[in-house]
Amino acid sequence: MIGPKDRERLEANWRTVVDEVNQATVASGRPADAVRIIGVTKYVDASLTEALVDVGCRDLGENRPQSLWSKADAIADKDIRWHLIGHLQRNKLRRTLQYPVLIHSIDSARLLKSVSDELDSSGVDTKLAQADASAHADVLVEVNISGDETKTGMTTAQIRELFESLPYSHVNILGLMAMAGWGTDPDESRRQFAAVRELRDELAAEFGLPLTQLSMGMSGDFAEAIAEGATMVRIGSRIYEGLLAS
Ligand SMILES: *Cc1c(COP(=O)(O)O)cnc(C)c1O
Repeated sequence: MIGPKDRERLEANWRTVVDEVNQATVASGRPADAVRIIGVTKYVDASLTEALVDVGCRDLGENRPQSLWSKADAIADKDIRWHLIGHLQRNKLRRTLQYPVLIHSIDSARLLKSVSDELDSSGVDTKLAQADASAHADVLVEVNISGDETKTGMTTAQIRELFESLPYSHVNILGLMAMAGWGTDPDESRRQFAAVRELRDELAAEFGLPLTQLSMGMSGDFAEAIAEGATMVRIGSRIYEGLLAS
């Protein structure tokens, strides 16, 4: 349970984030609602997560599959779209696919093939399968654009190889996900986000795929990401300002 003061604070933070994202989106020449805000809940428990949904956030992001499962189970009655934004081990794939989830973190051709195989095997009781006999998973491919060794994601060369190995049945690549490198200044972040967009444009043209989605931008750099065409921003800490003991 969270108290009324905390709820007020959470709601004010959320509204501020929505306003700033909308402004950045309009400044980029797009309609205000063209960018989806994913509220990253990895810092908070299920009750604060639920409160965030109640103040208006319908897209939630978790970086650990187990946390996604437990929160999705705890607040199963809410209408939520889940986003897995951290590494997915293949042994966590089957359960993850039982939730309405967009996987942002496809970081190998092997993982993509596993998603495909999993949905291919008959009798998989996924929510997707129940809704549609031709079950499919929406995914983004994670690019390591900063060249930062500590960052996850695939190099441009690995991504090209992956696209050359397409198609895989039951998987739908909607676009790319990326993080700017640690400690980069706004100009450098913006250059990195521009490089992601250019890579997306090249892949889309070369492989004849729409690749409409670009998941990039976090609390510290979402304005730069939106200026370079982000369609999804993943925002955590800004939403909880004043709410978490530090
Ligand atoms: C934690 C996390 C975020 C949110 O970061 P903030 O700086 O707290 O907004 C976004 N994307 C990924 C992949 C993350 O792990």
